[in-house]
Amino acid sequence: SQVFDKSGNIKQDVEEANSYLEKLDAFDYKFKVGNYFFNKWHFRSLINHYVTLANKGQMKVSFKDLLTLLAGKKLDSYADKITEYFDLMVAQDFLPNSPTMMNAGGRLGQLSACFVLGMEDGMEQIMKSTSDAALIFKSGGGVGINYSDLREEGDIVASTSGVASGPVSFMNIINTVTEVVKQGGKRRGANMGIIEAWHPDVEKFITNKTEPGILENFNVSVGIWEDFWHALVNTSDGNYVLRSPRDKKPVKEINAHQLIDLIALSAWKSAEPGLIFFDQINKYNVFAKARKAPLRATNPCGEQSLYPYESCNLGSINLVNLVKRQADGTYEFDWQRYEETIRKTTRFLDNIIDVNTYPVPEINVASKESRRIGLGVMGVADLLYKLKIPYNSQEGYELQSKLSEALTYYSMEESVALAKSRGEFPLCSKTEYPEGKIPISGYYEKPKSTHSYEWDPLIDKIKKHGIRNVLTTTVAPTGTLSMIADCSNGMEPAFALVFEKRVTVGRFFYTNKILEEALKEAGLYNDEILEKIADNYGSLKGLDEIPQWMQDVFVTAMDIHWADHLMAQGVWQDWIGNAIAKTINMPYDVTVEDVKSAYLLAHEIGLKGMTVYRDGSRHKQVLHMTSEN
Ligand code: UDP
Repeated sequence: SQVFDKSGNIKQDVEEANSYLEKLDAFDYKFKVGNYFFNKWHFRSLINHYVTLANKGQMKVSFKDLLTLLAGKKLDSYADKITEYFDLMVAQDFLPNSPTMMNAGGRLGQLSACFVLGMEDGMEQIMKSTSDAALIFKSGGGVGINYSDLREEGDIVASTSGVASGPVSFMNIINTVTEVVKQGGKRRGANMGIIEAWHPDVEKFITNKTEPGILENFNVSVGIWEDFWHALVNTSDGNYVLRSPRDKKPVKEINAHQLIDLIALSAWKSAEPGLIFFDQINKYNVFAKARKAPLRATNPCGEQSLYPYESCNLGSINLVNLVKRQADGTYEFDWQRYEETIRKTTRFLDNIIDVNTYPVPEINVASKESRRIGLGVMGVADLLYKLKIPYNSQEGYELQSKLSEALTYYSMEESVALAKSRGEFPLCSKTEYPEGKIPISGYYEKPKSTHSYEWDPLIDKIKKHGIRNVLTTTVAPTGTLSMIADCSNGMEPAFALVFEKRVTVGRFFYTNKILEEALKEAGLYNDEILEKIADNYGSLKGLDEIPQWMQDVFVTAMDIHWADHLMAQGVWQDWIGNAIAKTINMPYDVTVEDVKSAYLLAHEIGLKGMTVYRDGSRHKQVLHMTSEN
């Protein structure tokens, strides 16, 4: 379906060209070639023009020639790759995160989705972080901040003999800034506010957001370290000491069980706070040695743990696109195309680091010191539907595990190849990489016999050549990307397979496209059945008309038990360098005890963080099974 053939020449087929252009229209893209900007309308008219000329036999041009003509001068060495990356995006095999799609070639030129800022205990530093956050929002990024270093409410302020207002009140300042600065003119900024469990204001922090209208631009999470688990699991009394951030002196003693109960109750009521397991995040953090500090914050959706002033640009491979149709009509996953796509897109994201315009100078420095990238996936559930493998089955987990291992293995291997040609990331020699350590828990914790790839030779190569990117993989929510690519988001099962949409001219059904295909094949596709599925909360479960195999394969987020959600997150987390954005969906009637059990299980299986969502617990539920507009 691409308009260019293998050597980059325009295929002389107007129909093909038009379908390519239609796909292109989904993007709001701009290019900078030489000193010229051009947008999709320029591109559309140019392609039309050249296809017409080519059809008349008056011209044979390659895509590269086209760009060169436009720029009026020779392109640099990246030009050959442009076609490759461009075709991947147009085919929707891969999409970079929204800021790259919205800002590339534009005046802002800020291409990253994720940022973390520090928050030191001093008025000047607080205001500096606030102004940095405003610049990040303006440029389209989301910001995570750990507020634990701010002294607690009521503590002394020596210079004024006054009392401190505490971290929660300072979060309100950034919340207001977020309200007024629209991200890149397109969306509202997202924040992650973190407090560690030992902070004296932790209880206030947990209960603060249970009412609507408070800190609406924030996700909040409690950060947990080994000492808390120790008090919770290993001591008989559960005593846990809260300390002043200023001098680390004990302020009061609480009970670890009561604190986790309070967190679970609040999450049961309002889906917040989330939990961040800093002990798990730092267990294989090979970068800590270079930074001389552990990681203490994540971006808003939790998939990226970053040091202050670090940023990360993400991109996601659409797995459901990478299938081959067999002679018997079934589908098979194309592992070779997956490997090629991983290699190309690792390079793509590494390039982004250099063409990126960073919102403040400190971010430019920190991001280039680690060259962190976040290659991830989307369309996981759709892929499993297409392969007719239940998401929450042994086979489903095994496939997801291999997909995740391959992602990190090939992207790290490609990053080593980049280190050979372009150099390792500047702080590489100061990390634990030269000692042969890698930041991948699966390598250490999963039995070698279960590994699908040979990690030891890769580790030897890293020792010899270094690696170009401190970490390469993540699984993002892909909120916008999955809508553009029309696939299931990130690694989540579909929320509803069919939902009804009512508009002024009538009503229609949105149907998952893989299900639509399967229903048609089985001769079951009609309005009546779609209505039944929509009325069944978008699920196939229990519908007599639907064959059992289909009910087993096409599972929704609400069909899956919360323990299976955790299991799936764990399967991906084993091999993903950074973390996973995932919601642990629970039905309305779960108990607070269930939420607490989920926390314990999540920590046990090595997750880096978790968010629960009990159906109906949010005042404004973003996705409804039936929507009216
Ligand atoms: N993000 C943000 N505002 C939003 C949505 C996302 O700042 O409205 C940031 C946030 O850091 C999040 C990251 O972008 O963790 C990735 O989110 P997602 O994968 O949904 O982004 P997209 O699909 O738009 O590229």
